[in-house]
Amino acid sequence: MKITDQKTGCDYGEEGVFRGTFRFDNPILADYTWPLCEIRGTQPGPRLCVSAGVHVNEVSSIEASIRLQTLFDPEKMRGSVSIIPVINQPAVHKYSEYVCPVDGKNINHTFPGRTDGTFSEALCDAVLNEWVKGADCYIDMHGGDLKEKVSWFTIFQRTGDGEFDAAARNIAMCFNSEIVLALGPDYMKRPGRPPTACALRKQVAIMTEAGSNGLLSEDDISFHVEGVLNVARLLGIIDSQPTSATNGRSLCDSYIWVECPIDGDFHAEVEPGSIVRQGQRLGSVCDIFGEVLDEVFAPATGFVLWRITHPSIRKGDALLTIVEEAHAG
Ligand SMILES: [Zn+2]
Repeated sequence: MKITDQKTGCDYGEEGVFRGTFRFDNPILADYTWPLCEIRGTQPGPRLCVSAGVHVNEVSSIEASIRLQTLFDPEKMRGSVSIIPVINQPAVHKYSEYVCPVDGKNINHTFPGRTDGTFSEALCDAVLNEWVKGADCYIDMHGGDLKEKVSWFTIFQRTGDGEFDAAARNIAMCFNSEIVLALGPDYMKRPGRPPTACALRKQVAIMTEAGSNGLLSEDDISFHVEGVLNVARLLGIIDSQPTSATNGRSLCDSYIWVECPIDGDFHAEVEPGSIVRQGQRLGSVCDIFGEVLDEVFAPATGFVLWRITHPSIRKGDALLTIVEEAHAG
């Protein structure tokens, strides 16, 4: 990482608050700079990395990353908190849904990436190896692209190593989540989200979700801000009292995509965070004259993790996801 500009505060790496921009070392990423705020305490301690804007329309999480910059006092903290508010820089002002416009890849499903890959692959590799490397915890914040509404949830990766899994779960439980999703070890066999890629190197990372439809919401912003502060307390970076979290009403370990059976307008009858029973009607699909073309039923009992909000949808596209409660561990 090479600092390219300093807006305010101390020099990068010194005690205090740094705000500025940097370039990653990988030449594939040379056309872009990234914003960075790093708050470094006067006492040594853990390093916490926080990012948002892998999906640029998930604005409540981006706003949370901006507010967090003012909530750590270098005189009263141990270690450092490093914040990149928008990871997907090529998508800024393009409002790209899900993907990075340079290569059309979803960064969120591309970790750990590769040094000599496409732009998104190089970016994932640089985020992990140039920025997150050596951090005690990495939190990547998300929440509701332009056509979706998500429940409040956190994701961590299980590895089969009991000590690591318990530590990752404790971090995920710092958020006031409706659902805590523990991905099974199988996920580590293919590219995925930061929690999965970091678990491969025995580094704890979580992904957090709260938001909908590209809207700013104080409740969704607070979910992220309070959760990150609770993680900082758990790590020993700050000493203030934790805010209460429901500690994940439901620990889930598998999820099922429910696809639209036919082109049409989907009218949902369930909301994210709610429980559905196997066989329960989730909604109906109508044609442009209002005639019901098909009905959609729950393939399993579980919680609605998120759902699509724009009614118009093609056959085979995802309508929503159901997550099933964990039975063990
Ligand atoms: Zn997202």
